[in-house]
Amino acid sequence: MSATTTNATPAPAPPGLPACAQVDLGAITSNVAALKALAGNAEVMAVVKADAYGHGLLPSARAALRGGATWLGVAQLPEAVELRRAGIEAPLLSWLHVPGQDFVKAVNLGIDLGISTTWALDQVLAAATVSGQTARVHLKVDTGLGRNGAWDADLEALLATLASAQAKQAVEVVGLFSHFAYADAPQHPTVKAQQERFEGIVAQAERAGIRPQVRHLANSAATLTNPSAHYDLVRPGLSVYGLSPVPDLAAPEDFGLREAMRLVARLSSVKESPAGQGVSYGHAYTTSEDTRLGLVPMGYSDGVPRHATNVGPVQVGSRRYAVAGRVCMDQFVLDLGRDSTAKAGDEVVLFGVGVEGEPTAQDWAAAIDTINYELVTRVGARVPRVYLGGDT
Ligand SMILES: *Cc1c(COP(=O)(O)O)cnc(C)c1O
Repeated sequence: MSATTTNATPAPAPPGLPACAQVDLGAITSNVAALKALAGNAEVMAVVKADAYGHGLLPSARAALRGGATWLGVAQLPEAVELRRAGIEAPLLSWLHVPGQDFVKAVNLGIDLGISTTWALDQVLAAATVSGQTARVHLKVDTGLGRNGAWDADLEALLATLASAQAKQAVEVVGLFSHFAYADAPQHPTVKAQQERFEGIVAQAERAGIRPQVRHLANSAATLTNPSAHYDLVRPGLSVYGLSPVPDLAAPEDFGLREAMRLVARLSSVKESPAGQGVSYGHAYTTSEDTRLGLVPMGYSDGVPRHATNVGPVQVGSRRYAVAGRVCMDQFVLDLGRDSTAKAGDEVVLFGVGVEGEPTAQDWAAAIDTINYELVTRVGARVPRVYLGGDT
């Protein structure tokens, strides 16, 4: 693996904000460029669902397109509609629907639709009739994930309906795709089995007269670790934002990636506290000596997990601390130590790229036994995203 290390010192957060998520759009652009280089002949669909994994939908999408993504992917139709209405012309795919969604709007806006059920195909065909346009669809098949995707029982029927609808130009089957169960464990036997199943279904579709332009299977982990799964298009999400999908195997920099989000707050107060003082609700922490307590105006409503009580890693100046006591809705406390010179207004770094010794989102994930995906996507709506390094 190539090692590209960036030593860019993060810019401090703008003063006067209780908390903010600084988003380095230049990192998103260069991460996509790195993914594109790894993908070889495959095109890159940057996955920007869930508000671009918490980084902000439109600025992140534009940064990804600047990096060479030629497609954008989202889970839900309203996300795709927002991208299209903002003037983004790249092909867009949305793949998770419920009956009664506005597929006419989707067809009129030229949004590609993932199809994994017979009801969805029926509703999309009806929408194509209403709009008088050809619906662009990607057949989503379940090759072993056991989640979203057509099973064998529906596959024959879907292929037959798609073939006849395609003959009438009601649909264009642009893609055929699936999703891995164990892409983050590249040696797991299901990985190869799913690929073989996928290739079998591609052949089955061809026999039914369906030759999609793009076959796609790879999420971030498969994009980074499994070139044999790249096919025509890769669908990285997490890695676009500079996080490693295989943190036990490799760090972001091992893939030439850089974390795009830096989550910071400002100390609201620093006060002297005696030894033996219980801290925050339920006194889950007690000071062991005379000390200084710093109040951080960020809590679980902002995405700081309540499970981070007493364990969430934080940096103030050059010192690392763990959250002291319960994380509350709007705030948590740090035991800064009696010799601390920290004062109200000083920056508190929850996570960033790690180049200045600060914790990373992966450090938080490890501390509270979750995955890095959850840390960035849960940053709350109250936390402003402040963009650096490119046009929004
Ligand atoms: C979320 C998602 C992706 C991106 O996955 P990452 O692990 O974040 O790269 C790709 N494809 C589908 C179908 C998804 O739901």
